[in-house]
Amino acid sequence: MRNPSPQTIYLKEYRVPDYLIHSVELNIVLDEENTRVVSKLTMERNPDCDSENIALDLVGEQLELVSIALDGKALGDKNYTLSPESLTIAQPPQKQVFMLAIENSINPKANTALEGLYLSNGMLCTQCEAEGFRKITYYLDRPDVMAKFTTTLIGDKDKYPVLLSNGNKVATGELKNNRHWVTWEDPFAKPCYLFALVAGQLEIIEDKFTTLSEREIDLQIFVEAHDKDKCGHAMKSLKDAMTWDEKVYGREYDLDLYMIVAVSHFNMGAMENKGLNVFNTKFVLASPDTASDHDYENIGGVIAHEYFHNWTGNRITCRDWFQLSLKEGFTVFRDQEFTADHTSRGVKRIEDVDLLRTRQFAEDAGPLSHPIRPEAYIEINNFYTLTVYEKGAEVVRMLHTLLGAEGFRTGSDLYFQRHDGQAVTCDDFVNAMAAANDVDLSQFKRWYSQAGTPVINASQHYDEASQTLTLVLEQQSSSPEPLQIPVKTGLVNKDGSVASIRLDDEAAANEITLQLTEDKQSFVFKDLPQKPVVSLLRGFSAPVKLNMSQSLEELAFLLSYDSDPFNRWEAGQKLASEIIFSLIEDIQQGRSLTLNPILIEAFDNVLAQDWDDLSYFSLLLALPDEGYLAEQMKVVDVDAIHEAREYVKTKLADNLQLHFSSLYQSHHKDESGCFGKDAIGRRRIKNTCLSYLSKLETQENHHLAQTQFQDAGNMTDQIAALNVILNSGHPAKAESLESFYQQWQDEALVIDKWFGLQACSPMPDTFARVQALMQHPAFDLKTPNRVRSLIGAFSQSNPVRYHAANGEGYQFLADQVIALNELNPQVASRMVTPLTGWRRFDEARQDLMKAQLERIMQTENISKDVYELASKSLA
Ligand SMILES: [Zn+2]
Repeated sequence: MRNPSPQTIYLKEYRVPDYLIHSVELNIVLDEENTRVVSKLTMERNPDCDSENIALDLVGEQLELVSIALDGKALGDKNYTLSPESLTIAQPPQKQVFMLAIENSINPKANTALEGLYLSNGMLCTQCEAEGFRKITYYLDRPDVMAKFTTTLIGDKDKYPVLLSNGNKVATGELKNNRHWVTWEDPFAKPCYLFALVAGQLEIIEDKFTTLSEREIDLQIFVEAHDKDKCGHAMKSLKDAMTWDEKVYGREYDLDLYMIVAVSHFNMGAMENKGLNVFNTKFVLASPDTASDHDYENIGGVIAHEYFHNWTGNRITCRDWFQLSLKEGFTVFRDQEFTADHTSRGVKRIEDVDLLRTRQFAEDAGPLSHPIRPEAYIEINNFYTLTVYEKGAEVVRMLHTLLGAEGFRTGSDLYFQRHDGQAVTCDDFVNAMAAANDVDLSQFKRWYSQAGTPVINASQHYDEASQTLTLVLEQQSSSPEPLQIPVKTGLVNKDGSVASIRLDDEAAANEITLQLTEDKQSFVFKDLPQKPVVSLLRGFSAPVKLNMSQSLEELAFLLSYDSDPFNRWEAGQKLASEIIFSLIEDIQQGRSLTLNPILIEAFDNVLAQDWDDLSYFSLLLALPDEGYLAEQMKVVDVDAIHEAREYVKTKLADNLQLHFSSLYQSHHKDESGCFGKDAIGRRRIKNTCLSYLSKLETQENHHLAQTQFQDAGNMTDQIAALNVILNSGHPAKAESLESFYQQWQDEALVIDKWFGLQACSPMPDTFARVQALMQHPAFDLKTPNRVRSLIGAFSQSNPVRYHAANGEGYQFLADQVIALNELNPQVASRMVTPLTGWRRFDEARQDLMKAQLERIMQTENISKDVYELASKSLA
């Protein structure tokens, strides 16, 4: 039961904990329906606590209390009070150190929320971040209480041959009734959100890693037997990540053993529990025939992300959950750089910015907008957001830009040295960066408390007589005082060469980082005999919206000549966006459509060049995403966006089909199993061409897609062809979908793709298909990956069908949120998001979306998670 208006928690009310826990001894007897937990806590009153209150408040949810003892003496029920969410001992001993022993039982099988201890395909596993440990036993479940854990797991030898927890395995033994036990000891003090246990029938894949100081680490990946052949890439990525962190940050792994377990039922991507990472199978398992190139890259990134947390999150953790971006922003920045170093830097940057601008900007413009360090929350699970993660990473990236790679490293070294073993704040992080570099970052800290996307308005004036160019930058944001914004800038001569920049009396450079620190600032560039084209905010050096009027010709010019890979791509995106927006207006006014030839010419120029980085090349040929276009409209018109974008794509295909065909033919090779940059690039450009060609709906191109689908030896090619078949008038649509299902029905992750592809299809029969798929035997509301691949994909990645004018998409989504509310509140609240942006749409759609949000608010036993999102978006 929930209180109808749940309590809000505020950052400004943070107090140090009243009590500390030195060590925890857990003894857990595993059983699907009745797991027994005995927890022995060595505790003391916190010497830093000045509260008068001496009561000891432990939190616990959905627990069956069996007994409590203080210093070995059983407590009678008059000595404590129990509520559905807490256990309070009014008079704990006020001596230096005391022992509290609690025994309770839990039912993992009934746990569909997948928080705490739960069951996944017969395996028992845990998820404790953010507040799941309280569903295992009564505890001080907050990140600033750090303790050393010793965990003994006891279970049936056949059901649970593998028994894992954090740290090092220190003892094992046998018991009667076919049971055995294992004791794990973690020598590092940690908050309970990093606790983990896994028990089940698992196969192991092993390897070794030798650290910089020549310590040998055992690496182990645990999976279900049928997935044993799909762990090679994850293991390689782990070793790459360990090497990279030593090289780039000087960080070495600290335990003797590093374990990863892949589970099929998981609310998030993966979890960095100390020494025992638990992963969604999606981010571990890969073989060339079942995983796409994109999956391979994601696996590498997520494996690295969780590994990097060992220092940025585990050794140094967050003081409270408002500081979540301390560990997430920094670690996302680290994994982005890791991927950039192992793939194509330009492509990685573009994809990260694309995600940020399409999704995080929308979040930041909506009712749930919050700073990267939020000031209040009802349910912390709702703050694992794009803002905290992706914008958080951009803020860390700005520090890297401002301090330079060396300065940033000096700063991170000091941060690790100062705070190892502590629970700290975002301020502590910035302070270490400032101290190590002897700079003042107090203005920079404003980034941590401002919400919404800042805007920079740029204007320029060239003066021929003085051969100067004056650039005026003006910033607007929710921050009452101006932000410190690094603006990387370059100048390009009319012939495409680099114009060197001389600002005031500084030496000339090819590129410069302007420091925007005031509301409005002018920068004068000297010695420019001809007017250059300005390339501003290179590499997307700050998470802002840049307004600068540029002609279509200037954009086409930058698409051909800008030496900055990001801005070159960006110029093409802007050019295509402007053209699509003018077509949208034509559609809205009922005018006939014609494509401005400048876009065809610009694409023709790109196609005529020789490209080393084929992935980057294919990004230059990609039109802006419908979501990104929507993000830039005052009143989003999903139908016109879709129609205009499809029109442009078809016209480009029509005009450039010879290019696309010949590119397709020259890059179509069977290189299944090759994951080098070049092989990936060839697949990518080829599939980009296939997608354009499919718009022509010719028999020849239908044949091309079908042949690729049937002959593909790798998932990238197979799924790309199926996508094209599904989203065209291809005659073999039904049979292809069916044969794909038959081929892959035993591979859950591939079947997720099959659901996702159909859910994202813009074809008119999609809604009926989605409804039918909800009844498919392979669909299960209790499996988050399935929910995301069908309901999530339809509502978040299929604007034109989800936003159908009759409101059927909204009603469908609300039905699913209500069904998920009690099963899995975290997943339910993630599904609410596509309703929360209702203010961006026309009045009729606004009313329809609001009505569904109001219906959600009426849900009986509404969870805190869903309540917070729905109520805030209606407010
Ligand atoms: Zn993380």
